[in-house]
Amino acid sequence: MSGREDILRAAALIRAGELVGFPTETVYGLGANALDAQAVERIFEAKGRPRTSPLIVHVASIEMARGLAAEWPAAADQLTARWWPGPLTIVLRKGPEIPDVVTAGLPTVGLRMPSHPIALDLIRECGLPIAGPSANLFTELSPTTAEHVRRSLGARAAMVLDGGPSRVGIESAVVSLAGGRAVLLRPGVIPQTELELVTGPLGEYMREGSADPAPGMTPRHYSPRTPLSIGLAPVRDGKGVYLYWREPAASMPVIRMPADPKDYAAVLYDTLHRLDQQGLDWIAAEPVPDTAAWAGVRDRLERAAAENE
Ligand code: AMP
Ligand code: MG
Repeated sequence: MSGREDILRAAALIRAGELVGFPTETVYGLGANALDAQAVERIFEAKGRPRTSPLIVHVASIEMARGLAAEWPAAADQLTARWWPGPLTIVLRKGPEIPDVVTAGLPTVGLRMPSHPIALDLIRECGLPIAGPSANLFTELSPTTAEHVRRSLGARAAMVLDGGPSRVGIESAVVSLAGGRAVLLRPGVIPQTELELVTGPLGEYMREGSADPAPGMTPRHYSPRTPLSIGLAPVRDGKGVYLYWREPAASMPVIRMPADPKDYAAVLYDTLHRLDQQGLDWIAAEPVPDTAAWAGVRDRLERAAAENE
């Protein structure tokens, strides 16, 4: 676990334009000074991430977020009062301080105040907003431990802060407030039904096959190297494992996943990281319910499986 001195060293690196891996409650991020276009360029290089994919900017207070947005609608007040610090990103019209490279040229910026104490300390210590996508190579599984980050990025990060395993375990929910009507761009662990108590009915992001509403929403994302399928339908040869949460499958190795969606999310990536190390031929996952509470997990499983279709 990283201590005070590590955080101060990391803050100095961020101020100097370097990249730092840092823990958040969702997944680990690869951070750079969000106000420094050159530093942010290095994130895209390190990850091999296409420049059409906007980055989330992490802040340590609502006040800091307001300073980066051109408009702060009433819904932003309500959403942040209820869920910040926490696993919710809001997309607003961007202010002039945010370089275009951060937002992939979009007129909007994604903002989030993470609830991890090390992330908050880091942002406060450097006194800067931190642009940070997940700290992994493009299309790889997101990291939920410092070890995952080191394995994926190695020396591409000047330093990796260790804050223990990420508690939430999947990426934040992303809600755009930049248009007329609030839109859910990416589901997370906060159920849509709870967000809608604040925003009213949310427009849904369009699925695969329609125009890309938010750059970076490619289906090929969040994937283990081992082919993953949902359900047992594509019967496979070789060595594999079935991730079940309700019904184990007969005559094959199984792993029991939590039956609660938040608990499932918390262990999903770590489970896939571990299985990826075992040289399996396939992973199959029992389908999860089509409900608001399971939407985040369902989305990540579908994306992990999409690559292999
Ligand atoms: P990642 O950092 O890989 O978790 O991905 C960041 C995600 O945040 C993107 O895939 C988008 O869904 C969302 N995002 C960030 N900034 C914006 C923006 N300006 N407009 C729309 N979506 C955004
Ligand atoms: Mg990512």
